[in-house]
Amino acid sequence: MLELAYDFANKAHAGQKRLDGTDYITHSLATALTLAKMNLDQDTIIAGLLHDVPEDTAIPLEEVEKNFGPQVGKLVRGVTKLGKIKYRGLERYAENLRKMFVAMAEDVRVVIIKLTDRLHNLETLDSLPPVKQQRIARETLEIYAPIANRLGIGELKGELEDLAFRYVYPEEYTWVVKQSKTRLEDQLAYINEVIEKLKELLQKNGVKFISIHGRMKHLYSLYRKLQRKDMDISKVYDLVAVRIIVNNEADCYHVLGLLHSQWKPLPGRIKDYIAQPKPNGYRSLHTTVFGEAGRIVEFQIRDTEMHDHAEYGIAAHWHYKEGRQAELKLPPEQLKWITELLQWQKEISDNEQYLDSLKLDIFQNRIFVFTPKGDVIDLPEDATPVDFAYYIHSDIGNRCTGARINEKMSPLDTMLKSGDLVEIIVDKNRAGPAEDWLKFAKTNMARTHIKSFLKKKRGGLAKIFSRRQAKTTNPS
Ligand code: MN
Repeated sequence: MLELAYDFANKAHAGQKRLDGTDYITHSLATALTLAKMNLDQDTIIAGLLHDVPEDTAIPLEEVEKNFGPQVGKLVRGVTKLGKIKYRGLERYAENLRKMFVAMAEDVRVVIIKLTDRLHNLETLDSLPPVKQQRIARETLEIYAPIANRLGIGELKGELEDLAFRYVYPEEYTWVVKQSKTRLEDQLAYINEVIEKLKELLQKNGVKFISIHGRMKHLYSLYRKLQRKDMDISKVYDLVAVRIIVNNEADCYHVLGLLHSQWKPLPGRIKDYIAQPKPNGYRSLHTTVFGEAGRIVEFQIRDTEMHDHAEYGIAAHWHYKEGRQAELKLPPEQLKWITELLQWQKEISDNEQYLDSLKLDIFQNRIFVFTPKGDVIDLPEDATPVDFAYYIHSDIGNRCTGARINEKMSPLDTMLKSGDLVEIIVDKNRAGPAEDWLKFAKTNMARTHIKSFLKKKRGGLAKIFSRRQAKTTNPS
């Protein structure tokens, strides 16, 4: 099937050249190759080969569908739809996002193909005119990379960002490259020493490992971190982290224990993302220790399945479902935010407001908090109990009067932190939300409910008022 798809695409694009002078098919191949490396299913790889056929050749989608079936047809149609965005500026941005989310809700593989398509376009960006370079690179940082991140596809997110970084912030890019180079040489020699010690330690204690290697931080994420650390690279502890991959979850904790018996951990830097995965599904143990000669070093410990998910995120789902083609529905808890988003976009017609709410709810850093039953709720940073209450249900939001955070009574405007246990206190007789809540409610969900309640209330009063007036002015 793959060979047939390749021949089909090759014939369809015959004679077409990319702006860098290479045959068009190199682009289709590169896209499909990235998808194959991510272990996606065959239909998706075929759709990667054919993704530009309906848009850029004389062969219509129906022909693709007839030859390769409805699944491939659906995927190619999805990618083609995403390609057609006519707007400019803010309009374009909003439209682009909307289309991405619609496509994602239908079949998330469409968006994964789009991300790998974008990856190759960035790799060959040099041959485009500067105006286009800027647009594509910016769009990547603003839309594509955050979506890859939200889908947990860490490796792709990092590559997209690093490729775009150079075009959007050329001076900063050069600076970061230079900074990290100098520091890296010194760092790597030391890391190798640590790895040798660590291997000895694991062997001595009979722990088998699959691999141990140093992992350099991606440049753009290093740049973002430097912005938070006064641009001082010596304050970045994970420029090179040591990644340990073991056979199973129990071994992860065993290794963590051994590490801490050998080297003292830095307080507050042990993170158990196995017990509490990140909202995008990321799982691992992280710890930072005072290593040999007191030098600080970060370790990331995970098993192979966790590693696959960290690199490929939602795409790894197909890896484990191989051979069960009928069951390509996604884990609902991981995609709940997309369906929610689609609902919001139906309600908000104003582009600026829509983008603001997106930046708040989706692209901001997320925290996760717990309900008394232990369910995990993920919210944007600085969210409050009011946001939490509306997330649970609009009725709970409208009638909440207080909150217990970690079993302590707390005001409704308290900013929640990851790991907080939140319980909402409800007063059945409460009429509705207070206007004041708009001063601290962070999520679009809470704000929209509060506003619509207040509007209804005012509308109701106004109606009663105008009816009364009508009565008095027209006594008959
Ligand atoms: Mn393409």
